Amino acid sequence: MEKKIKLQGLSGMRDILPDHQIYLKKIQKSVENTVHYYGFQKIDVPILEFVEVFAKGAGTTSDVVEKEMYSFRTKGQDLVALRPELTPGIVRAYIEHGMYNLPQPVKLWSLGPCFRHDRPQKGRYRQFLQASVEVLGDKSPSIDGQIIQMSFDVLKDLGFKNINIEVNSIGDAECRPYFKKILTAYFRSKKSSLCSDCQRRLKENPLRVLDCKEEKCQRIRAGAPQIIDHLCENCHGHFKQALEFLDELELPYTLNPYLVRGLDYYTKTVFEITENSDAGMAYGALASGGRYDNLVKLLGGRDTPACGVGIGVSRIMDLMIEKEIKVDKKEESSQIFLAQLGQSAKRKSLKLFEEFRAAKIPVAESFSKDSLRAQLKTADKMGIKWVLIFGQKEALEDFITLRNMETGVQEEIKLDKVVEEMRTKVKKP
Ligand SMILES: [Zn+2]
Ligand SMILES: [Zn+2]
Repeated sequence: MEKKIKLQGLSGMRDILPDHQIYLKKIQKSVENTVHYYGFQKIDVPILEFVEVFAKGAGTTSDVVEKEMYSFRTKGQDLVALRPELTPGIVRAYIEHGMYNLPQPVKLWSLGPCFRHDRPQKGRYRQFLQASVEVLGDKSPSIDGQIIQMSFDVLKDLGFKNINIEVNSIGDAECRPYFKKILTAYFRSKKSSLCSDCQRRLKENPLRVLDCKEEKCQRIRAGAPQIIDHLCENCHGHFKQALEFLDELELPYTLNPYLVRGLDYYTKTVFEITENSDAGMAYGALASGGRYDNLVKLLGGRDTPACGVGIGVSRIMDLMIEKEIKVDKKEESSQIFLAQLGQSAKRKSLKLFEEFRAAKIPVAESFSKDSLRAQLKTADKMGIKWVLIFGQKEALEDFITLRNMETGVQEEIKLDKVVEEMRTKVKKP
């Protein structure tokens, strides 16, 4: 006998059920409206790319590449991976389509699923939605300021308060190697007190020790040299100007000398945006990013400075739900409910429903229900103001009864006037 198996989703993967779609839609809209205002153009890149696209810039020792990437060989023996983030694919497309020939900077944004084989925990899923906003071909620190401002705008628009922006500069090829050297020397002298992960990181990338979450490592880092004191003149000037833009924009930022980001390709300004509440801190960064002046070249393009942000759409959605941030359902749903009673009325209702659809006036219905009481209950639950009642008498005499659910007042409208009449009614606030 065949064994009955119960199918379930993969660990760390989840369904976004109809109830939560309203949040998703709101976030997508907010990102889209904001970035379009700033002149960004949408680009869609494939979910699957050659592994090198992700590995080259992130660095082979980054957690993302080392353990979190879903990579596999195709039947044609290509080594490919599900994208762990959007930026490398966008940069690959920028190079491949010769966008460096366009007037610079090129401003692109994208939104879609990304994949990381991470340990599932709060705010971390193995498939998650991310929005990515990238400026390619501009080295000005004003771009850093604008990217941060835009990310802040999106979160504010979504109803978050107490937004905190942490910024740091991690230097560039000019000054970072030396800093890494003195940082390594410092940590090496305390090596036995570091966690085992950090002892390994020390060999590969000492900067990563700075963002270790282990308490004993954080105690040691408190005495570590800070990169801000070791930036070259160029990086120092850039960071100073970027901060001046943030001051000018009156953005609530703090300097965090331990912020390094997990990916090798970042240069100069890096930032993370969190929501400052117990719930918010548990989720971690809602948006993060920075400058990546070397990535285009690393991926085979020309020397092209760039800056961008990844916005954690899934994470933001979860936090909005947890914090019970209200999303206005009114604009999404209809204010009119079409109720019917009897076969003849039901038939005519279907036709009337089509007329409303053609007139682009949203109307809710429950044609499968026969009882008027049940339909009115549904309408009430949906918080609907206007109910059109189409009964036997109405169907016979070609009129419809309109009930205002707030006042209980009823009136009769001729059937051929009902669409126009309702159009004026729903327009009124
Ligand atoms: Zn550690
Ligand atoms: Zn530098």
